[in-house]
Amino acid sequence: MSSKKAIVIGAGFSGLSAAATLANKGFDVTVLEKNSMAGGRARKFEAEGFTFDMGPSWYWMPDIFEDYFSYFGKKVSDYYKLDRINPSYKIYFGPGDEVVLPTELDEIYKLYESIEPGSSVGLKQFLHESEYKYRVGIGEFVRKPSHSIAEYFHWKIAAAGIKLNMLSSFGEYTRKFFKSEKINRMLEFPVLFLGGTAKTTPALYSMMNYSDMVQGTWYPENGMYAVVEAMEQLAREQGAKFVFDTEVNGFETNSGKVNAVIAGGKRWEADFIVASADYHHVEQELLDKANRKYDEKYWDSRVLSPSSMIFYLGFDTRIPKLDHHTLLFDEDFEGHADAIYKDPHWPENPSVYLSCTSRTDSNVAPEGFENVMALIPVAPGLEDTEEIRKKYLDLVLMRMERYTGQSLREHIVFERSYAHRDFEQDYHAYKGNAYGLANTLMQTAFLKPKIRNPKLKNLFYAGQLTVPGPGVPPAIISGQIAANEIINYKN
Ligand SMILES: Cc1cc2nc3c(=O)[nH]c(=O)nc-3n(C[C@H](O)[C@H](O)[C@H](O)COP(=O)(O)OP(=O)(O)OC[C@H]3O[C@@H](n4cnc5c(N)ncnc54)[C@H](O)[C@@H]3O)c2cc1C
Repeated sequence: MSSKKAIVIGAGFSGLSAAATLANKGFDVTVLEKNSMAGGRARKFEAEGFTFDMGPSWYWMPDIFEDYFSYFGKKVSDYYKLDRINPSYKIYFGPGDEVVLPTELDEIYKLYESIEPGSSVGLKQFLHESEYKYRVGIGEFVRKPSHSIAEYFHWKIAAAGIKLNMLSSFGEYTRKFFKSEKINRMLEFPVLFLGGTAKTTPALYSMMNYSDMVQGTWYPENGMYAVVEAMEQLAREQGAKFVFDTEVNGFETNSGKVNAVIAGGKRWEADFIVASADYHHVEQELLDKANRKYDEKYWDSRVLSPSSMIFYLGFDTRIPKLDHHTLLFDEDFEGHADAIYKDPHWPENPSVYLSCTSRTDSNVAPEGFENVMALIPVAPGLEDTEEIRKKYLDLVLMRMERYTGQSLREHIVFERSYAHRDFEQDYHAYKGNAYGLANTLMQTAFLKPKIRNPKLKNLFYAGQLTVPGPGVPPAIISGQIAANEIINYKN
């Protein structure tokens, strides 16, 4: 019997995971990717001796990666070397006021005590509860296809739902434990950067703080792209084939099914399709109107995660004040959040995130040089011009110089910017979004865009715009969920 053909659209993390999972179960898998390499938003590029990871830089939730490889009888260490970053990261709140997050829990308790006396007691309880959220969230919730609310009716899950504080906001929840605004900022930054304000994000997401403080921040040797390479290799080992520089332009459908995918001027016959490219693009631009579940009005009403203004900078000098991860929170945090979510506009005094992997990895910049990715989360859909980019490069350099006390402009030997226009062009990203949908309560689990197309029964979606959501670990899980829908498919 010949094996069933599966076409995966897109070779980002979700597409790679769907491809490997399906190939492992005997499907004849072909991945069609518009760009010339795998990775999607997590691609890398090399220039002038520097290597830059273009997107993700925080390796959190290491157990999800381990779990992924173990499905295939493999270990992370079979593919890449992982180091824990020590200290985890640094947050600069202003002159003489910076917080360095240690890796040891006892040291973190001491740090909290030094900011707010007595707060280590609250932190213990907070971490105890966030560990529960992590275990139940990952164990019971995150892997559900979320076709309907009924999947969550089981008493155990319903009871857990209450303990997970699904209905209270992240901001209300952390303020029950900590009075210090500085501590609240320290806990909120993953929420702000990955899509949402503390007011609109469910307290469930404090599971991220558990991963941060207890599991730690890790770094794959040679950068995050090592994970992409590992997952591509694994998918190939399972038998998946990759076709790059091949953009999908449409579908051939008949009697409620997709018969073939049209790409690169060819028909690619398929029994099943996993569309892991951006959901909005596939639905609104590749499918006929009659086969869409949602319309433009629906998409326009979604709360999107931020886009990003990114600068990849190469310096011909070392910058000792920078850590591997440095967050400059010395300006108006609330005003920046409002500029993203409340009244979308380019922020006046934004927070800036600096990733400088050459601080811990000698392979990513020439000796004595430094590679910096500077990222400002910004509202999706903003006007993105060269003039605006220049203004923000100037701002980033001013903030870096102010923080490091080093004169840096004359040391720039490489410079590239990346924002809305690039996200749209490279990934067909709706409104130039970077991380898909914001993690609001009304966009969680069964309230997210559905993983299954209701009109074309062999078309499934994967990726950060469907369940479970944005981030590398969720994208990997999303691919597994879509693949499992196909593996367990009954006519
Ligand atoms: C700047 C930035 C920083 C981030 N930081 C972190 C972080 O530190 N930690 C973390 O966990 N997560 C982070 N994320 C989020 C994480 O990178 C994403 O959630 C994840 O990579 C999304 O994977 P995906 O498979 O859903 O989508 P994508 O990576 O976008 O993959 C989709 C693929 O589909 C392809 N495609 C699109 N249209 C077509 C078409 N018509 N035909 C063929 N192919 C097509 C695209 O080229 C792309 O390769 C970050 C993201 C960005 C952008």
